[in-house]
Amino acid sequence: MEGLNKIRRVILYYDLQREKKHHVSSRNVFQTLLGAVLSQRTRDENTDKASKNLFPVVSKPEDMEKMSLQTIQKLIKPSGFYRQKSKNLKKICEVLIKNHKGRVPREREELLKLPGVGFKTADIVLLYAYGIPTIPVDVHVDVVSKRLGLVEKSAKYEETRKTLEKIFDRKEIPRINSGMVEFGQRVCLTARPKCYMCPLVKVCKYDKKNLTRQNQRL
Ligand code: SF4
Repeated sequence: MEGLNKIRRVILYYDLQREKKHHVSSRNVFQTLLGAVLSQRTRDENTDKASKNLFPVVSKPEDMEKMSLQTIQKLIKPSGFYRQKSKNLKKICEVLIKNHKGRVPREREELLKLPGVGFKTADIVLLYAYGIPTIPVDVHVDVVSKRLGLVEKSAKYEETRKTLEKIFDRKEIPRINSGMVEFGQRVCLTARPKCYMCPLVKVCKYDKKNLTRQNQRL
């Protein structure tokens, strides 16, 4: 129990650090969905570059529906996989206009029907656009929660999300994705965790801890 309290304190601390680093987002619900698609399989800085190109000219599905595929590709190129993402974004807009009166649905099942939208993208929209308490499981959440022993190593997306949502208090849930992402980027690095400086080293269950600073690549 004490171990869990410590984990909770550390993850919530890193959530606060992330809040300080990232300015308050002025994205609308639709742009949050676009940002979540752009963020698939790429780093934050690439998503940011593509978003800065796209958001000044696209604030609603009708804006993107009028654009050519080539124009969308050019705008979102920094996000990587831009050909597939452009196609998905255009199709998403068509479905939103046709089936949802141009609005982004707030039900997980409906979001999952949109082209290129999987569990993580749907949960990002639910949490960051609609404020519905959930824990999007990106690579950092997956790696950190499994190394700490909060979740079984073999757990897939939904098992990980549901397990974490039972462990943390309801009011903490909206901050867990952000806290674990920041902790994963600064301390529990996916490739080589900095266990030698980790405040959770005594409670962590990871069996390949990196305890010597010399092992860190410069
Ligand atoms: S001790 Fe290492 S593996 Fe465990 S949480 Fe800390 S950095 Fe991650």
